[in-house]
Amino acid sequence: MSVPETPSSQRRANRARVMGALRERGALSRSALAQIGLSRSTVTSVIDELMAAGTVVEVVAGKDARKTGRPPTLVGLNGSLGVALGLEIANGVVRAAICNTAQELLVHDSIPVDDHTPPEATLKMAGTLIDHMLARVGFTRAQVIGVGVAMPGPIQRRTGVNGRATTLKPWVNVNPWATAHEVLQLPLLVDNDANFGALAEMTWGAARGCKDVAFIYSASGIGAGLVLNGALYSGANGTAGELGHTTIDEDGLVCECGGRGCLNTLANADAITQNLWRSHRDRLSIADVIKLAQVGDAGCRRVLADAGRHIGLAAANMYNLLDPELIVIGGNLAPAGEILLGPLRESMARRAIHAGEVLPPVVVGELDYDVVVVRGAASAVLRDAESFPLPKH
Ligand SMILES: [Zn+2]
Repeated sequence: MSVPETPSSQRRANRARVMGALRERGALSRSALAQIGLSRSTVTSVIDELMAAGTVVEVVAGKDARKTGRPPTLVGLNGSLGVALGLEIANGVVRAAICNTAQELLVHDSIPVDDHTPPEATLKMAGTLIDHMLARVGFTRAQVIGVGVAMPGPIQRRTGVNGRATTLKPWVNVNPWATAHEVLQLPLLVDNDANFGALAEMTWGAARGCKDVAFIYSASGIGAGLVLNGALYSGANGTAGELGHTTIDEDGLVCECGGRGCLNTLANADAITQNLWRSHRDRLSIADVIKLAQVGDAGCRRVLADAGRHIGLAAANMYNLLDPELIVIGGNLAPAGEILLGPLRESMARRAIHAGEVLPPVVVGELDYDVVVVRGAASAVLRDAESFPLPKH
């Protein structure tokens, strides 16, 4: 027998919908809230109730407010209710960010980590970093709603372990959720770095308002976070968007995944810098290569253009299969800007089917390399009201 809907259960459901929208999208106007399928009077009564409880506060509209007329009054979650953390475990570095419940970035930081460090030791260092950062912004571990942990490479959906294609060798066949949960002792979720980056660019960056987006993230490898019809797409087994392991040259070098001539062997940061050994000798970082290219170094411009062409080939294949409305480039290659993007677009245009219509714009992401993934990871926690309830206050 089904339980009849009572006014109080209806009220709870309405409150959950409003809270869900505010957790997902940050501060909103009352009229934007009415668009989630509730009447204006219901929204007003739910907001009044949440404001009286201190859960929701009025927020001054930011720089997006129209210059003429009265700026809209927004309502958002009270930022002192708790914090969500983002953690990115990457080659050579661990990055972390703390966002409050109002979706404001409070602090971000990073520590260097040797690539051979075992997962438990890396996570212990991450835990210490998190504790220092929480102290800096005046929150405690008890106020942490959850941690979004970003890993490079695919995480196998069925087993939860990192596949062999990850660039972090000590993490191959490790279950990052179980290991991080044991070391950090905090509620958490784990996903691929590019997926979190896509979420951040959709929420705050270049992909705002888009429903079909590919976010190509270049760190030690190249991956794509795919948003299809408004939702992140990971595939049946978690390997969707592994652009860096698509074949570009069948006779090329053997990749860490065991395949030959993957995009990573031609266009990731290591492949680019190794190309310059004869001309430059010194061990250049990818940031050095980009800086030299910007002041006209011919060799550095050449290798970045070549990388752009290879990424463009892979992007054309992806476009032909998925038809995104926008392609966003983020990560350590993004600062190269048009030196990379010009050849990338040209290469893509040669191979993409577009039936006489324009190709999707290819743009550089709006969020910086050191925050895009951790911000998205924290946002993923804030969006997941079911797994990460707000702390009692
Ligand atoms: Zn590969």
